[in-house]
Amino acid sequence: MRDSIFNTMNNEELKKYEAILLDLQDALSKEIKDVIRGGADMGEMGNRDEEADATEESGIAHAEQIALKGRLHAVLDALERVKAGTYGACVKCGGAVGADVLAAAPDSVYCLSCK
Ligand SMILES: [Zn+2]
Repeated sequence: MRDSIFNTMNNEELKKYEAILLDLQDALSKEIKDVIRGGADMGEMGNRDEEADATEESGIAHAEQIALKGRLHAVLDALERVKAGTYGACVKCGGAVGADVLAAAPDSVYCLSCK
């Protein structure tokens, strides 16, 4: 009973991971805002030109922003799977992703053997 394939965790565990994912969602959203806002003035501290070229795009900040948005998307997906009751199941083999993997990356969708 404990290792049924599609129901890899009980409600209590799901709630715990949901809270972790919501925290992560929050943190990532903030980080994305920071990158968008702070991208232009990362190099020069103490030089506060009011009309700095804020519109000039920093390539690094842009790449970081894309990476963060990708991560945020994965977290939102994971939250959808929590609601659907499929969270914690590997999307490839249907087995349990495993607590170790989820602890390291709560938005993981693959178990260790499918990674
Ligand atoms: Zn798998």
